[in-house]
Amino acid sequence: MARYTGLINRYRNRLPISTETRIISLNEGNTPLIKLENIPKLIDKDVEIYVKYEGLNPTGSFKDRGMTMAVTKAVEEGSEAIICASTGNTSASAAAYAVRAGIRAFVLIPDGKIALGKLAQTLMYGAEIIQINGNFDQGMSLVKEVAKHAPVTIVNSINPFRIEGQKTAAFEIVDDLGDAPDYHCLPVGNAGNITAYWKGYTEYAVDKVATKLPVMCGYQAAGASPFVNGAMMDNPETVATAIRIGRPQSWDFAWNAQKESGGWFDKFTDEQILAAQKMLSYHEGIFCEPASATSLAGALHDINNGKIKEGSKIVCTLTGNGLKDPDTAISQCKDTHPVTIEANLDAVKKAILDNM
Ligand SMILES: *Cc1c(COP(=O)(O)O)cnc(C)c1O
Repeated sequence: MARYTGLINRYRNRLPISTETRIISLNEGNTPLIKLENIPKLIDKDVEIYVKYEGLNPTGSFKDRGMTMAVTKAVEEGSEAIICASTGNTSASAAAYAVRAGIRAFVLIPDGKIALGKLAQTLMYGAEIIQINGNFDQGMSLVKEVAKHAPVTIVNSINPFRIEGQKTAAFEIVDDLGDAPDYHCLPVGNAGNITAYWKGYTEYAVDKVATKLPVMCGYQAAGASPFVNGAMMDNPETVATAIRIGRPQSWDFAWNAQKESGGWFDKFTDEQILAAQKMLSYHEGIFCEPASATSLAGALHDINNGKIKEGSKIVCTLTGNGLKDPDTAISQCKDTHPVTIEANLDAVKKAILDNM
């Protein structure tokens, strides 16, 4: 492969980029597509499940795919500041790419509802953090309003360049598998990502790089499930803070992806989401954040009930890295907290032999 420098370079003829454009990149994209080996045996079903591990992007989530494009275009247009509302990952990503570009980043985050790792990153990258006494949806509506009154470029997924960057994840999957999968499962919050994947798969199918399109399965948290309910909602609640959203911005695009692909939306409880997160780390060695595991929770549910057919090839997007939310991870492992022993050979030997 040619020397790799990020997804804009790799897919530049499929992106709105000119040879003059100064590319703002941290070498995002090109994330591993990992075939699950143990979970299909555990559930005893004849399926191939792959996870697209987006937690290995530079700031630890898929948001970097959209952000490299959004910040590149903002700089090209002469913008000196970007702004976003965020449940955490967008703010971390916006902050990093703003530093890279030499511009300012303003981020609105819900007070107390952002995972520790995401807050640490955003602080370290030096963004202007504005905490609001409100949730993501309220932050989003404030951002849209303030952008009319201040010289700032919005880099939420309502920015079409975000979708352009994020569609490259579908390209990578088809390039890796040799064709589109039968089903694509992903968590849905603001619904920019399901919109982007569908755009990417569709472009590859139109150009005959892929011979088919996947069925799109969008999974939500039970307490934040506007697509499943068929109506936007106030006061969304879930442990999976990245999808704690009641008023998705890409509402129509996501419905379109569901309808055109013959797919569906469904919802899962926090317990089911955390069980899937634990299953992935415990049985496959893959640590994702809670929201990400919603994709696997949904896939396993629909494989079990036959909605996803045996013999299928399934891709689940793992949207963010497990290290983003250490608090939720540790609180799930309370009963396996390490024991403390004396610091001598006998005690260590006994600790090993007792556990063999
Ligand atoms: C942003 C995000 C989502 C939701 O993606 P949308 O495009 O808003 O639907 C899911 N998981 C993680 C980890 C995220 O950061």
